[in-house]
Amino acid sequence: MGLMYIQLMKKKEWLIEGTKMKRIGVLALQGAFKEHIKIIKSLGHEAVEIRKATQLNDIHGVILPGGESTAIGKLLKDLKIKGILIKKINSGLPIWGTCAGMILLAKEIEGEKPYLKVMDIRVRRNAYGTQLDSFIKNEVIENISKKEIPLVFIRAPYIIDIGDKIEVLHKTDGNIVAARQNNMLVTSFHPELTDDKTFHEYFISMIDDI
Ligand code: GLN
Repeated sequence: MGLMYIQLMKKKEWLIEGTKMKRIGVLALQGAFKEHIKIIKSLGHEAVEIRKATQLNDIHGVILPGGESTAIGKLLKDLKIKGILIKKINSGLPIWGTCAGMILLAKEIEGEKPYLKVMDIRVRRNAYGTQLDSFIKNEVIENISKKEIPLVFIRAPYIIDIGDKIEVLHKTDGNIVAARQNNMLVTSFHPELTDDKTFHEYFISMIDDI
């Protein structure tokens, strides 16, 4: 019985590797995590809700969703996920922060205390002010998609300063709204709230590159 279980588990691993299926963790403390999970699954990958530190083991990548960075930041600390997550990111775990997730990864937040402090960016929270709280733009993101994709901004941050290791992936109206530093990807906008899967495919392909 025990042996059969081990064999089944091995077979599952083999299938996952063999089909290049990925197991993606999605931080599920607050915010738009269900939407990310739906897209990851629709692309044929496995999605795991992350609510405690041990769930960060045995995943190929992790997504920090949009929501409220203050709330998610506090929960990361209270639930003792923060320290382990920082270690995993520093040792190369691919990670994608959307909107609030971008704020959480930043080394600096204008006028506020930063959270994980892993990515060489300085961000401005709620950068678009109250009048432009939310808007959608259709734009081409060079190197990621040749066609226009919908970019949904909801009380979004943007990047106001970058370190040398940062690759700027996209600017909207002159402001940096997508960037990468090795295993870390950030977007001010929310691809998970659209039908377009380009950005999720990009994140999955990034895992193979690293
Ligand atoms: N304004 C939010 C914050 O500061 C981010 C908004 C979002 O994730 N859609 O955390």
